[in-house]
Order: sequence, then C-alpha cells, then structure tokens
Amino acid sequence: MSFRLRVDPILCDAHGVCAELFPERISLDDWGYPIVESAPIERDLLEHARRAVAACPVLALTLERV
Ligand code: SF4
Repeated sequence: MSFRLRVDPILCDAHGVCAELFPERISLDDWGYPIVESAPIERDLLEHARRAVAACPVLALTLERV
C-alpha cells in the first residue's frame, strides 16, 4: 500500500505551511499555491507528509491510499 498527497484547490488558501513542512514533495508557485508531486510517498517520508496534512489550517491537503 502506498500514499499520495492531494490538494483541494477550492479549499486551499495559499498559506504555504505544507511546503514548509514537506519541502521534499511540495513547492509553491508564484502565488503561494502548492505544487504537489504526484509520485507515491515512500514509507520514510510518510511522517513528514502526515505532519503537513495535519498542519493545513483549512484541511485542503489530504493523504490518500493508492
Ligand atoms: S497548508 Fe493548506 S492552505 Fe496552505 S498552501 Fe498548503 S494546502 Fe494550501
């Protein structure tokens, strides 16, 4: 089982917290919106991904099973 990050573009408010907490997979565009790599999250990065999901103030970031 592996996981992938997904951003809801409607909910996302461009706070940028996720990119700070998980720079391995999330960068920000010129407007501060996240660009999330679509590759599955390896086990060793899962904790970082979970932390980023938990820190999103508008619950726009989710971790889904693939
Ligand atoms: S922390 Fe949430 S609201 Fe902020 S950029 Fe990331 S997904 Fe968007």
